Amino acid sequence: MPDSRGLRSLPSVASLLASDAARALLRSHPRAVVVDALREVVGAARAAVGEERVPLSREAWIDRILSMLPGEIASRESLPMRRVINAAGIVVHTNLGRAPLPGEALAAVLDTARGYSNLEFDLAAGERSSRLSHVEGMLRALTGAECAHVVNNNAAAVLLCLAGHARGREVIVSRGELVEIGGSFRIPDIMAESGARLVEVGTTNRTRLSDYENAVTGQTALLLKVHPSNFSVHGFTGEVRTADLARLGERAGIPVMEDQGSGALIDLAPHGIPGAVSLRQVLSAGPGIVTASGDKLLGGPQAGIILGKEDLVAPLTKHPLSRALRVDKMCLAALSAVLRLHADERRARDRVPVLRMLLEPEERVRARARRLVRAIRASGSELSLAIERGGTSPGGGALPDIFLPTARVAVSHPRIPEAVLEERLRRGTPPVVARVGKGKVLLDLRTVRDDEVPELAAAVSAAGKNAGKID
Ligand SMILES: *Cc1c(COP(=O)(O)O)cnc(C)c1O
Repeated sequence: MPDSRGLRSLPSVASLLASDAARALLRSHPRAVVVDALREVVGAARAAVGEERVPLSREAWIDRILSMLPGEIASRESLPMRRVINAAGIVVHTNLGRAPLPGEALAAVLDTARGYSNLEFDLAAGERSSRLSHVEGMLRALTGAECAHVVNNNAAAVLLCLAGHARGREVIVSRGELVEIGGSFRIPDIMAESGARLVEVGTTNRTRLSDYENAVTGQTALLLKVHPSNFSVHGFTGEVRTADLARLGERAGIPVMEDQGSGALIDLAPHGIPGAVSLRQVLSAGPGIVTASGDKLLGGPQAGIILGKEDLVAPLTKHPLSRALRVDKMCLAALSAVLRLHADERRARDRVPVLRMLLEPEERVRARARRLVRAIRASGSELSLAIERGGTSPGGGALPDIFLPTARVAVSHPRIPEAVLEERLRRGTPPVVARVGKGKVLLDLRTVRDDEVPELAAAVSAAGKNAGKID
């Protein structure tokens, strides 16, 4: 219970508003915001009265409350969605916005979205055109597909394909591929929403071509293959290769669809990252339709990409659902810029952040870790810092078995628990998202940009201050 003597020494909101500090803030911020923020910090002070071992004087309370006021105002005026520094070491981090966009994509968004654009206007002919014209040709050229379509995300792409080709009919899927990706994308649920009937074949660990073959009926609309993405099965396993399924589809006259997921446009295996089969490779195995995300290994904006044979993809562009799932101009501007970068594989590896982060040599990540450590030490921090080796996950449900060797900085303080350090980092400006392990905060430098190092150093130093006062 706060004692009444302590409470009486607390200044009132009205008296604080009349202070010089508050009057200065009132000149640059709306009154309602300042008053609201003041009420909040006075409320916090009231709650803290009882916890103070030595009762504070009225002057000390005024100082403390007024020192908290600018931060409280800033947090009210900042936009709720903000940039964060990803030191968690997951490249395609769904909770942190998946793929960071290259500068070229940002410039394209700014240039076309701040005013009007030729979104659906053919400048040469002077007539209306399709918004997809800005990406369709590049997608065909980059993947070898006959036809391409783009919708809001990959879940939408799968929904549209199933609704367009299999509503009221059967779709055959291996039991090993009835996956859940990211909580709300479950193949059986999407299937139900589309109106298609799921026919499961094989077992969790093994499915043979004959399993599909035996399940084909006059009602079969599609043979569907789904990339398991966020898990892998080891041991006594077997799945049917896309090429074999495509041959079966050909014989039976049933289209084959593959949900590739990652959207990888370049083959990463020669660069030491096996398992990410590129869209071109998947298409060359012969399926009629392939779907993928725009913001995983493609490294672009959130989008769902549908590629494949003309007779299967073109009708989908006219399906009523396509209008409901269509992408906006900012997505198309960013996507076209990212696809343009992919026209030259080297440039894509160099300029597309997801690819650059995945392919950066460990030694360069380590050099960044050393710079971070030097910068934190230069601030005179009491924190203990050690560079250690770790593994970065590509994330985003792509490549579940891959861990890229990385360098991380393990941070600890003799008196501040690691959970407090982690929370202070998370609640700082800019917020830093890090992991905690073995009594330390772990900062993975693979997902931190070079130009973020000074800010990260400042955030870490700040989190390591005030050991006496743990909030
Ligand atoms: C990620 C993923 C999805 C979902 O894609 P979104 O773009 O998040 O909608 C669907 N299928 C596979 C195989 C995936 O990897």
